[in-house]
Amino acid sequence: MSYEEVFPKFMKESLEKLILLPTYGERGAGRLIYNLLKLPVEKRLEVVKALEKMAEKIKTCIECGLYTEEEICSICSNPKRSKKFICVVEEPQDAFAIEKLERYAGVYHVLGGRIAPLEGVSPNNLKIDSLLERIERYKAKEVILATNPNVEGEATALYLSKLIKKQFPNIKITRISQGLQFGSLIEFVDELSLEKSIENRRSLG
Ligand SMILES: [Zn+2]
Repeated sequence: MSYEEVFPKFMKESLEKLILLPTYGERGAGRLIYNLLKLPVEKRLEVVKALEKMAEKIKTCIECGLYTEEEICSICSNPKRSKKFICVVEEPQDAFAIEKLERYAGVYHVLGGRIAPLEGVSPNNLKIDSLLERIERYKAKEVILATNPNVEGEATALYLSKLIKKQFPNIKITRISQGLQFGSLIEFVDELSLEKSIENRRSLG
């Protein structure tokens, strides 16, 4: 009897779909499937239905790129949030990590990654044009560069600060830094350190 015959067809099909998730791999996908199958059938279906609803309803905000159920997210459409402050992040989860602190009153801009030449990611692959366009349209006072504190994140912040300064010489550009361990990911940093790093952000010019 071959492995093909032993391994249930529907599990194989699900595994093949889950492997499509970036960075997940066969092990990650397998773990998810086995854990899901440990649940009673009705619980499994609850998980899958929630995922289905999310997959269908969630889109990215046409302004900032955050995940939202509307065309424009609840931050961009909130008149209490100041568009004079734009916090630039790599991914939506970074913005949500900062939002959890409930301290930041500006808006975000999701780049959709960071400059990583070794992985073939150049500035052209990131949402930089729309950032410049928003800075201009909002007449922003400050751009907070909150890319991750690692080699690529720092390089991306440096690249952006030069580019922005060239086009908007009077704008304040800051970088979150203090209290964040080099190599950590904003998404997983503890709240106190993250809050400090934003409060003590340093000026890049
Ligand atoms: Zn938005």
